[in-house]
Amino acid sequence: MKVVLSGLNRREKMFTLADDGWFPSEVAKAGEAMAGAGLCRLDAAFWSLAGRLRVTLVLPCDRCGCELHWPVDDEFIYRVASEESGGQDGEVDEEDAALWPVSGPVLDLAEVFRERVFLTLPEKILCAETCRGLCAGCGADLNLEPCRCL
Ligand SMILES: [Zn+2]
Ligand SMILES: [Zn+2]
Repeated sequence: MKVVLSGLNRREKMFTLADDGWFPSEVAKAGEAMAGAGLCRLDAAFWSLAGRLRVTLVLPCDRCGCELHWPVDDEFIYRVASEESGGQDGEVDEEDAALWPVSGPVLDLAEVFRERVFLTLPEKILCAETCRGLCAGCGADLNLEPCRCL
């Protein structure tokens, strides 16, 4: 969903990404993803974006590979800076994680939400703290069966 920034004013406008076409195909999920954002102008070069992403991801356990449902409820705020309007001159810190730079007059909300999906992926995911994983030798799922190596 593309939003023309110049069309926004200081009153927050709500946007909802209705269909799931934007969702990254590399990530599995259960059911529909809900993505909504409020946008408003801050000044000549900056806009505020307050978004919320709700989705249940389906991720494999790092140790045994079984599929897990991982609910995500992610709320986030970005300051959208337009290069065109001079929002990226000098004062802007490239490392600022809360900054979303756009080069043209248009903000692609699908791109923002795709990025959020990847940011919410956990570094490590286990079906249980006690998951025993697969044996590297015989491939047995040690949660279910004994190792067959001898
Ligand atoms: Zn596991
Ligand atoms: Zn084994």
